Amino acid sequence: GGMVQLDADQLAQLRMQFRGELLTPGEPDYDAARAVQNLAIDRHPGLIIRCSGEADVIDGVNLAREHHLLLAVRAGGHHVAGHGSVDGGLVLDLRDMNGVWVNPARRTVHVQGGATWGQVDRETQVFGLAVPGGVVSTTGVGGLTLGGGIGWLHRRWGLACDNLLSATVVLADGSLVTASADEHPDLFWAIRGGGGNFGIVVDFTFEAHPVGPEVALAAVFHPIEAGADLLPQWRDLALAAPDEVTTRAMYWSMPPSDELPPPIQGQDVLIIAAMYAGDATEGAEAIRPFRELGAPMFDMTEFIPDYRAFQAGFDALASDLHAYWKSLYLNELDDEALAFIHAQGMSRPDPATLIHIPIMGGATARVAPDATAFGDRGAPFMLSFDAQTRDPSNYATVREWARTTSEAARSLNGARGAYLNFSGDEATDTRVLDQQYGQNMSRLRAIKKQYDPHNLFCVNNNITPAA
Ligand code: FAD
Repeated sequence: GGMVQLDADQLAQLRMQFRGELLTPGEPDYDAARAVQNLAIDRHPGLIIRCSGEADVIDGVNLAREHHLLLAVRAGGHHVAGHGSVDGGLVLDLRDMNGVWVNPARRTVHVQGGATWGQVDRETQVFGLAVPGGVVSTTGVGGLTLGGGIGWLHRRWGLACDNLLSATVVLADGSLVTASADEHPDLFWAIRGGGGNFGIVVDFTFEAHPVGPEVALAAVFHPIEAGADLLPQWRDLALAAPDEVTTRAMYWSMPPSDELPPPIQGQDVLIIAAMYAGDATEGAEAIRPFRELGAPMFDMTEFIPDYRAFQAGFDALASDLHAYWKSLYLNELDDEALAFIHAQGMSRPDPATLIHIPIMGGATARVAPDATAFGDRGAPFMLSFDAQTRDPSNYATVREWARTTSEAARSLNGARGAYLNFSGDEATDTRVLDQQYGQNMSRLRAIKKQYDPHNLFCVNNNITPAA
């Protein structure tokens, strides 16, 4: 793909054609618009189109195809490899397409392609409903869903993509189609895990489920050293918990902010968090053991009033970071793995660097690996090395740590695959894509050839068209 080269007349003409705002280098709003969540990504697109609806997306795709422009599609801008932006090329920015419509009687939700999970939660929670999404409210529905999607509800109701009923997609040739079990079923299969490779989703229709506003949860902070004792106990609780419970453990350091409770300000911590997907009163018993583990330095649980507050609770900690992530799945969290994780947790190269261990299983694992593009769902745990820093001069160091530590973790028992939504640079590492998609890869490449034969949608974890 090529660079955007427009003279003043061409630009004026495009401004007449599009309803959304067009931004070029040097214009006042350009710098704010080109930024993505990861501050380590600093790209300068030739043109940003803030699409206002389907027509802008269709004309944007046609513009990119006809002029052979390198094209990036941006929703929440959270992909850590910076797939939401591109140097010199065209960015179709979907952020203004953030409408959400709930049908409480049918328990379905229409979500425009550029909405965030916070916007979805806002609309669904007044009806006591939720769509399985992520754990940070500013993350985009688009990228998260197309790449799978784990959060607090996935063990009960599956990945975000498992709750997708249909999608309206702008294809590389500019046509608009519906993908569902009945229409374009191949496309529907491919977009549930295959990322943005096949088209631009302008509208998602999800199934929603009864959860919240009040939820049973645990958000408990332990001194980091306690991880050696607590992690094995947490693993046992996690494996014994019902599907309603999704839990994660995190090695992290709290910033010295006085907005945090004094006992945890500036502290190195092991966070044990859990949520019960269902009735809050019924869930309290199932959650209790996660709160009663060890001797916490602070139990935040009672200060989190409802589901939306929990969903936004990590937002501030997850912003203003230079980031590089690497992940894998673990078939076993045996004592050797736990000792390795604890040692790495204690020696993280930066306070903002996180080791994140979400539990999988439950409903996610009951979907066959070839039922959606996502692939292997068999491992009970994910392990993610989220190398992050607020000090740009430490970025190269934390990135190297993520690479070497995740590589070392690959020799643990039953280590495999990667979660492509948590990938630092797997776009250039076909080994990792092959591992994760496994048997699905050849079908994905065939569908790619059918829907995007010239690889217009290439700024992503790229699946190349079959020969
Ligand atoms: P973008 O960077 O805008 O897009 C990511 C990719 O998806 C790009 O290739 C883009 O082209 C494509 N894309 C986006 N929208 C569309 C669309 N409508 N049509 C076609 N292609 C599209 N993941 C989880 O599963 N669970 C979590 O709890 C979670 N928490 C996170 C927290 C933070 C702070 C961050 C930074 C990431 C988190 N993620 C999580 C990872 C997240 O799922 C991925 O970063 C995902 O790609 C984000 O989607 P986005 O729309 O925000 O990103």
